[in-house]
Amino acid sequence: MLNRREFVRAAAAGAAMFSRVGDALAAAAKYDLIIKGGRVIDPSLRVDAILDVAIAGGRIAAVESNIADDAVETLDARGKIVVPGLLDIHTHAARIKDGPALCLADGVTGFVDAGSQGADRIDDPIAIAKAAPQAARVLINIGRAGILPEGDTMDITRADVGAARAAVAKNRDVVAGVKARLSRDVAGANDYEVLRRAQEVVASFNLPVMIHMGQTVSPLPRLFELLKPGDIVTHMFAPPPNSIIDENGRILPEVLAARRRGVWFDVGNGRTGHLRWDIVERVMRAGFWPDTFSTDWTPEGRTAQVFDFPNVMSKFLDFGMTLDQVIARATVNASRVFEVFRDRGTLNVGAPADVAVLELRQGSFEFVDNFGNNRTGRQRLFPSGTVLGGKRVPSRA
Ligand SMILES: [Zn+2]
Repeated sequence: MLNRREFVRAAAAGAAMFSRVGDALAAAAKYDLIIKGGRVIDPSLRVDAILDVAIAGGRIAAVESNIADDAVETLDARGKIVVPGLLDIHTHAARIKDGPALCLADGVTGFVDAGSQGADRIDDPIAIAKAAPQAARVLINIGRAGILPEGDTMDITRADVGAARAAVAKNRDVVAGVKARLSRDVAGANDYEVLRRAQEVVASFNLPVMIHMGQTVSPLPRLFELLKPGDIVTHMFAPPPNSIIDENGRILPEVLAARRRGVWFDVGNGRTGHLRWDIVERVMRAGFWPDTFSTDWTPEGRTAQVFDFPNVMSKFLDFGMTLDQVIARATVNASRVFEVFRDRGTLNVGAPADVAVLELRQGSFEFVDNFGNNRTGRQRLFPSGTVLGGKRVPSRA
């Protein structure tokens, strides 16, 4: 996987770093917007330097130092960090009408709603995703009634392959995969069969399945048998029973094998049962780092534990990751997981002009896991501004 990443990065950098779209365009057009003087960090281009980002026609037009040309508008980013727009692959932003706009104000220029609804009410999140200002996709919950307090698929007849398949077929433009929530309080002893059915749904569409792991009835190795390349494991830091790491601090061989065959591992911060600091510590120490970060955003999470995507990213600055490594997991890495994000997560010239401006503050910050444990960090990223398709977006109130 590292090799694939290195290759893509090198290719992107070689093709267009610091170059302009073309002399003709540059001569004809003043820029629409220049983001001036920020510390530009773009792992896809291996850039970390004080630079200006010029935007024209909704696309990145130049990333250079001291761009002197005129622009209709200038955004002063001195003292700030300028990164590609953030891509959040596990949210529930399509659960409420203003979810997409709230996430956008936090710098999230692309999101996936992961299983808020099943076949019966899939039209609701689809309507919200379609109306979203940013790139948005929906994973359909294999449980046809969506997320239920009594457990989505505790009644196995709710994992209705025919209903899910019909819903995917009807909404091929917005549905980007199937979500299978497998915890014991969601699927009970049906976990294996639920996942098998989820794979049956996507088989003819060539789409991924995202599994919600942690506290399952079935052992993880048995469930992982059913994962194919391109599938996503979310809540990778879930505590036992059935963590990805054993009592001796070893990542399970089946987990390593899954990553080797192209299964992605995602954080899925959330609020209940998914993230515990001691597990994060041990998994990070074992060198099994997340491919992607995600918030598992909900309106409730906005005021507790999750807050915003930059806050979730910040938690990992305290586990040995550099700023560049943290940003990669919220941008370029996520762009590889879902087709819709393929040309995003980068400030490469010609890419859609989706940019997040962040502020890195030093101090003392409390981060809380899903079990009420606090950790104090010395740094925290705050959302400071968003540019979507070249246009400035109002910041978080
Ligand atoms: Zn979720």
